[in-house]
Amino acid sequence: MGVRLIIMGPPGVGKGTQGELLAERFGIPRLSTGDMIRAALSAGTPLGERVRVYYEAGDLVPDDVVLGLIAEAFDGPETAGGFLLDGFPRTVAQADGLGELLAARRLELDAVLSLEAPEQELVERISGRRVCEACGLVTHVRAVGDDAPCPACGCSLIQRSDDLAETVRNRLSVYREQTEPLLAYYARSGTGLTAVDGLGTKEAIRDRLLDALRRAETAA
Ligand code: AMP
Repeated sequence: MGVRLIIMGPPGVGKGTQGELLAERFGIPRLSTGDMIRAALSAGTPLGERVRVYYEAGDLVPDDVVLGLIAEAFDGPETAGGFLLDGFPRTVAQADGLGELLAARRLELDAVLSLEAPEQELVERISGRRVCEACGLVTHVRAVGDDAPCPACGCSLIQRSDDLAETVRNRLSVYREQTEPLLAYYARSGTGLTAVDGLGTKEAIRDRLLDALRRAETAA
């Protein structure tokens, strides 16, 4: 059995951070297509080379690429006890494809969570986001200041190539045009959609998500 969740929301809303907390809480893997793509890019695999131009422009990579990555993960042993999908699906075609992958395996989603925050806050969060190349820590210039080393391991912090200001605006408009329609898609589905306020401390948002999940479970 296990828990099968989707966490959705615009870039910068905190899906990655909250997705990790939830995945840890339920003992399930967090499947982030963004992380899978970044791993392929830094390893220079053929898949990475195929998607580089889309990634660097802040555009979505083709649906068949991400559906292939998810299908592969579903066929591995690590998802047998459930999973949390982060950053996937992002288009109606991906959501349809996911539905087919699940149906073929006789699996159902337990909840689709949608984290929400105002656009201005998202732009500030993404453009100030810094990641440590060595240990993977994700932080913000608001927390560490400009040009500071990683507070966890002392290595240098970098800005993701798709977090640059002009790319961020494109990612937000891609979200509005291609991904936002999925909110209505899932709201109409049997699983339903659970919207959660994404403003506040990491712990407050996590608790809201856990409450929302409990409510979704009671309603089911
Ligand atoms: P993320 O880390 O989830 O914000 O994803 C970063 C970038 O990876 C996106 O801007 C897209 O270029 C690509 N990407 C990640 N997930 C998907 C997806 N489900 N569909 C298409 N492109 C994706």
